[in-house]
Amino acid sequence: MKNIILIAAPAAGKGTEAALLKKEYNIPHISTGDILREKSMEDSEMGRDINYKINNGIFVSDELIINILRERISKKDCNNGYILDGFPRNVAQAEAYQKMLEELGKELGLVIVIDIDKNIAASRIAGRISCPNCKEVYNTNSKELTPIKEGICDKCGEKLVKRADDNEETYLDRYDTYIEKTSPLIDFYDKQGVVYHVDGNNGKDSTHRQVVKILGE
Ligand code: AMP
Repeated sequence: MKNIILIAAPAAGKGTEAALLKKEYNIPHISTGDILREKSMEDSEMGRDINYKINNGIFVSDELIINILRERISKKDCNNGYILDGFPRNVAQAEAYQKMLEELGKELGLVIVIDIDKNIAASRIAGRISCPNCKEVYNTNSKELTPIKEGICDKCGEKLVKRADDNEETYLDRYDTYIEKTSPLIDFYDKQGVVYHVDGNNGKDSTHRQVVKILGE
């Protein structure tokens, strides 16, 4: 399987789609947000700094995230492909990633952009909850993403939690940051002819069908 980069505004469905791809193609789902949320729980200056940045929708430093990513994709389980969810987040990270791929002898693969209306994404934020244990994402505002038992993970039985940065105010900042810093990546990768767009406005099944079709082409 090719390496896959998912690019989308927050709450467009990157995490949900990455989890479906992981299951279907048996390749790792690398969510830099999940890795950072784990690190933010460490009782250290770095842990507290990451926690503050995540809660306020501020990017962590490029250096930190690039080191985290290099370590992660160097692991054996990434040899047959992987899904990147949340990285790269800006052009500097994309350039550093390009160099990293060369050094590690890996291929860029393809870039899937999940397009979504700002208002639809914002409305998903209110209902988004996730499992702190297995990272499964649910949404009480969507029939297909509501957990069977209220507040409990269908997969592992853990109590579901709401992310501290999933509130309307932080969301608007995160969305603006996406437009300003992350969306230029679409042009960056378009020039390399590796970008595919899917419509993320109609929920997870519709998004997944479109992605699987692209991967099968
Ligand atoms: P996410 O789960 O992808 O929405 O990420 C949650 C938060 O983690 C972001 O708002 C940033 O604070 C941080 N983060 C995740 N990925 C990156 C990245 N590639 N570069 C910088 N900060 C990141």
